[in-house]
Amino acid sequence: MPEECHICGDRVPFSATVHVLINTQSDEGVYDEYVCRSCYEDGIEPLFGEQSES
Ligand SMILES: [Zn+2]
Repeated sequence: MPEECHICGDRVPFSATVHVLINTQSDEGVYDEYVCRSCYEDGIEPLFGEQSES
């Protein structure tokens, strides 16, 4: 069953999605969306990768 990427809107197979669950610790609250892998790597991972690496 395909999921719709929250960033680019593409419908991609569930196996190609990444479930992003981030507590933004701001008024936006929790970011809880499915995105495709390319959007995750381009848009999400650079933002949060540094924090989770070390
Ligand atoms: Zn996407």
